[in-house]
Amino acid sequence: MRSVPELLAPAGSLEKLKVAILYGANAVYLGGQKFGLRTAADNFTTAELEEGAHFAHDRGAKVYVVLNSFLHDSDLSELPEFLSLLDELSIDAVIVSDLGVIETIKKYSNIEIHLSTQASCLNTEAALLWKEMGVRRIVLGREISLSDAKEIREASGLEIEMFIHGSMCMAYSGNCVISNYTQGRDSNRGGCAHSCRFEYSLDFNNIENASKDEVKAYFMSSKDLEGIRALPEFIEAGIDSVKVEGRMKSHHYAGTISKVYSDALTQYQKSGDIVSKNILEWEQELRKITHRDYTLGSLQEPAGADSIYTEREHETPDYVVAGIVLEVVEDSHLLVEVRSAFYPGSTLELVPFNDPCIEFKADFLTETDGSSCEKSRPGILLKTPYVKGAEQWNIIRAKVMQ
Ligand code: SF4
Repeated sequence: MRSVPELLAPAGSLEKLKVAILYGANAVYLGGQKFGLRTAADNFTTAELEEGAHFAHDRGAKVYVVLNSFLHDSDLSELPEFLSLLDELSIDAVIVSDLGVIETIKKYSNIEIHLSTQASCLNTEAALLWKEMGVRRIVLGREISLSDAKEIREASGLEIEMFIHGSMCMAYSGNCVISNYTQGRDSNRGGCAHSCRFEYSLDFNNIENASKDEVKAYFMSSKDLEGIRALPEFIEAGIDSVKVEGRMKSHHYAGTISKVYSDALTQYQKSGDIVSKNILEWEQELRKITHRDYTLGSLQEPAGADSIYTEREHETPDYVVAGIVLEVVEDSHLLVEVRSAFYPGSTLELVPFNDPCIEFKADFLTETDGSSCEKSRPGILLKTPYVKGAEQWNIIRAKVMQ
């Protein structure tokens, strides 16, 4: 079998961690209650961190914890206690961008250190300096090409992780303060309001020789990265880990992305190639989750004007999670925890962990007390028709009527 990169998925919550791993992720990254860059994510409590670490390790997956905020002295003093918890739970690595955090980690723990993309490492000299400081793996800046990444890996001897999918920053990650100025929310301490996605006006009135027009547009919103077609190049460049952005995104996103990229990596591992028929199917799957238009970013050529998403954000995804399978009673029914409303007769799609999706009709919906249900409600348990191949924790999704 050929060697392929690790698939590293976002785990915005304990449930998303489980979904990502069951759908094929080899590793997940997550945040504790402090020190990460997603204050609005459903960050892990100590108990959830413990359960998540056991769940992942029992299935051979790794857990990386993000400590990539830029900290002030008052924040740093609380770090040693958190590090001893991570050591206790055998967390596999921490993802860091601040030099002070790296120094504190080295004083109090032997945990493996990965450099966050927030540090914008883009060249070999910088990589070598980070290596001297104790960094074992570098998550390269998203502005770098695959061919440059290959050279940095060979020259530095460090493990290299690169983003393959997800939302992008129009700025060098970690060097953007639009959100700080416009919303009073610090993007380098977990508060980014995604100000680059908003509509802005250019007012030419005060510019000499300019027309008197005012132009309104989405000038700065980047399309989303989709690297599935470049996967063979990631592998040929020797990239050690391919990373998916999106701790704030849904279960549906965590499951779909993990399944698609894990299928592609498995196929490459077996045959040394990925065939175009499958790429089309994978791309179709990737269009079922909420996304902006897709771009290859800077993976092959520096991202240009065509990487800007000039439209308003899609508010409505094409598919939503209808429910999660809690129990499979063979030849009888599925017990489903409902996530969004559907009706008797709705066409649903079961997403198996490894096999292609299976469409089925909800011919009956029965409540747990045996009464029939006319419309499902989020949070309730329902019995739906049995689907051969269903397993506990499978996602069931429904097409959204536009
Ligand atoms: S405002 Fe946009 S470009 Fe700036 S940090 Fe946030 S997501 Fe990135």
